[in-house]
Amino acid sequence: MPGYELFGAEEKKEVNDVLETGILMRYGFDGPRKGIWKSKELEQAICSQFGSKYAQLTSSGTAALTTAMAAVGIGAGDEVIMPAFTFVASFEAVLSMGAIPVLVDIDRTLTLAPDAVRAAITPKTKCIMPVHMCGSMADLDALKAICDEHHLILLEDACQSIGGTYKGKKLGTIGHAGTFSFDFVKTMTCGEGGVVMTNDEAVYTKADAFTDHGHDHLGVDRGADLHPYLGYNFRISELHAAVGLAQIRKVDHFLTLQKKNNQILRSYLEQVPEITFRTVPDPTGDSYSFLTWFLPSQAHAEKVIDAFKAAGIMPGNFYWFANNWHYIKKWDHLKNARSLYPMNDAQQKAMLALSTTTFEKSDVIMSECISTAISLVWTEEQVHEKGAKFLSVLKETLS
Ligand SMILES: *Cc1c(COP(=O)(O)O)cnc(C)c1O
Repeated sequence: MPGYELFGAEEKKEVNDVLETGILMRYGFDGPRKGIWKSKELEQAICSQFGSKYAQLTSSGTAALTTAMAAVGIGAGDEVIMPAFTFVASFEAVLSMGAIPVLVDIDRTLTLAPDAVRAAITPKTKCIMPVHMCGSMADLDALKAICDEHHLILLEDACQSIGGTYKGKKLGTIGHAGTFSFDFVKTMTCGEGGVVMTNDEAVYTKADAFTDHGHDHLGVDRGADLHPYLGYNFRISELHAAVGLAQIRKVDHFLTLQKKNNQILRSYLEQVPEITFRTVPDPTGDSYSFLTWFLPSQAHAEKVIDAFKAAGIMPGNFYWFANNWHYIKKWDHLKNARSLYPMNDAQQKAMLALSTTTFEKSDVIMSECISTAISLVWTEEQVHEKGAKFLSVLKETLS
């Protein structure tokens, strides 16, 4: 999964280019920077690598989601339909815009169940936000059809699925806008960082200004910029962009390694008749950063986890059902509207309503589900050893 595993000379070289000039900011200082523009270069590389017309870097994936929402005009009172299984950042971005996260059930794609999305649409719905969790994708044709029918925005949280594709297009480039995170544990990293991708020039222009205090970047220097609308500071630094530039040149290599290791490991789990695998709407498009599998019941899953722990092979395997970061079951801070500052009434009400909302379908799926993170640095021999160990523990536990 993570690009940090293959950090080395390439990243140091790019960072050193920036340190040589001492210009750590992405804008301005045209003379002293001596032609070094790492952020711009990385944005261009993102466009060509992922087939997006425009890319705007940000300081994090959360900032990218927030920026994307602002740029497509999501704000006070708007409802954003999102899955109950995601990373907390997805609803943080919605809340920070004054909008309302509407959490709905997932299916065995591990993201939005199209029928649950349909059932959640109200006159206030503005956007559907699939989160392509754990390297694979949502049923985008079904979700797009719902968006077209109801004139809604499709915003892809592709932070966990860098390099995945759907019917030939890269995840994150299919909706009105899409985002990646380049935080430390993502498929490619900047240390911290993120990007908004879009094919819509107007959305890009707004994202560009929003991430830099509303500067229109049309002046002869920063002082001469105008401010057509309000913005914030969600800028990436040149040092972070430099790391990302080295990483993006290696991302195809990362994806090849992920696929190889994932498929070897899967070949062992496929020998266990009780195990099924996650539904992948376009099976050729998985980014392979995780291998996600299901046991026949919660009791089976819990038994397997205990056995994996006893055998010392649990690290790298995730039981999201009991995880604080990824599933609604443990988000008491959200369900109790525990905000440091007063939020608007509609948000407050929606959050408190979550404490009595049930997610029975998602509970069944999540309670049976284990995801195995795929390392880039496993040797082929190590993956086979791991697979064999998994297989013997599983056979013993499930017999
Ligand atoms: C990592 C992640 C984010 C946010 O990224 P940061 O860069 O850590 O802010 C958003 N959504 C999902 C699904 C993520 O996994």
